[in-house]
Amino acid sequence: MTVRTRFAPSPTGYLHLGHAFSALTAYGFARDHRGDFILRIEDIDHTRCRPQFEQAIFDDLAWLGIAWETPVLRQSEHLADYQAALDRLRDMGVLYADSRTRKGQAEAALSAPQGDDNTETSPAPPAWRLSLDAARARLGARYDALQFTDLNAGDHPARPEINGDVILGRKDIGVAYHLAVVVDDARQDITHVVRGQDLFDATHTQVLLQALLDLPTPQYLHHTLVLDDQGRRLAKRKGSKSLRDYRDGGRSSDDILALLDITAKA
Ligand code: GLU
Repeated sequence: MTVRTRFAPSPTGYLHLGHAFSALTAYGFARDHRGDFILRIEDIDHTRCRPQFEQAIFDDLAWLGIAWETPVLRQSEHLADYQAALDRLRDMGVLYADSRTRKGQAEAALSAPQGDDNTETSPAPPAWRLSLDAARARLGARYDALQFTDLNAGDHPARPEINGDVILGRKDIGVAYHLAVVVDDARQDITHVVRGQDLFDATHTQVLLQALLDLPTPQYLHHTLVLDDQGRRLAKRKGSKSLRDYRDGGRSSDDILALLDITAKA
């Protein structure tokens, strides 16, 4: 088996140290196993993604010394595939329509990485939610046996209940993060999903989607998060210093590796 890892940023802002750590960890894991490293642009949310941020991702990763396979998969170019997966789930009877306001939906939904700042209160068209009851009925005993392996945490039962009936079909942008990511991890033969601990909970839902869609479950490595000097998570929207801020301030990519305590290997 050839190890294949991926870094899957959303071009909604400039990359910060946390992204650098994630990308370097996934890249290093692939290199240590003589595997492949994939860069995937997760740009389904056209309301928040910008081309200049995508170009900045390429520039910043290259500056860090990371190389990736080309062509790069852009999710915005594969919307029909995610829609097909959504249709399949709907045909299985595991989705239901939710016509609450977007704010109401956002409050009830998992705070998915691409959808965590919804503040609108106007009525919205229906969204499609995954019914855990229907999923359980469909999978039977397999539902309770769902599990995943995390290289740090070991074998872990998958308990989608912690996220509840998540939104998979968004009327504004078509599909939600969970569905697109599961389709692409399978399409790109990702063997090891290396990403931050902030996405550990998302894995429970994604493992269920893999079972429903007959897709393989990769192994996971949820790494620790880079925190600022007050112990808070870095975030684009909180104005955390970007990699280009460091670069413009005269720091080298080796300085970044040193800051992150990563030893560069040939
Ligand atoms: N696109 C997601 C983000 O930027 C990451 C998805 C993943 O690694 O599964 O937070």
